Amino acid sequence: MLKNNLETVKNKIIAACQKANRNPKDVTLIAVSKTKPLSDIEELITYGVKEYGENKVQELCDKYENVSTPVNWHLIGHLQTNKVKYIVDKACLIHSVDSIKLAKEIEKEATKKNVVANILIQVNIAHEDTKFGIDENNIYEILDEIKDLHHLKVKGLMTIAPFVENPEENRVHFQKMHQLLLDIKSKNIDNIDMSILSMGMTNDYEVAIEEGATMVRVGTGIFGERNYNI
Ligand SMILES: *Cc1c(COP(=O)(O)O)cnc(C)c1O
Repeated sequence: MLKNNLETVKNKIIAACQKANRNPKDVTLIAVSKTKPLSDIEELITYGVKEYGENKVQELCDKYENVSTPVNWHLIGHLQTNKVKYIVDKACLIHSVDSIKLAKEIEKEATKKNVVANILIQVNIAHEDTKFGIDENNIYEILDEIKDLHHLKVKGLMTIAPFVENPEENRVHFQKMHQLLLDIKSKNIDNIDMSILSMGMTNDYEVAIEEGATMVRVGTGIFGERNYNI
């Protein structure tokens, strides 16, 4: 099942790239393995998947410690400041930085461990009360403080689009994210890189790719439905 699902997702990524005249090499697939057993990850590793996304610090650390081959772990869920110390040297990319306070905590812990933490700024582009992420109107204020934190490297932006029946409804949000990324890029701010745009999940990754996503986070499409009660 995992093998077929992975093939299907990869083919859809290629098709979306062709539609948008993009190179599939410019889109990284992150397999969102939250709630799924290590055995699923081990199987996907044999198919060449190296990027995994987790939304909980504890689960990321457990899988990090126990996986048989080193792979890249992406923290995609909300990060509390008191948990930063556990993952700052384990996550290859923290997608969910949504406050200056969190950025400063990451800076502090990364300095202690003598690493540079790669991060994305999470933007709540649809202004949903239920979602984390900053308001795009505050982005320059945040970047202005972060640019001076030298154990942090801003690599781009991330968003979680609304849950919608028809993915077309999210196109406008993905377009806004892409425009925001280009605006920031054009300002050439020191220490701020805008090469990654993390957006698109099982329901809407094809539309996200058409609108410029460079990382898509796909869980259900690869692993099947999640059961949170186990
Ligand atoms: C769970 C999750 C995903 C994957 O969701 P699917 O709909 O299963 O593809 C992507 N991004 C984030 C931030 C998530 O928490």
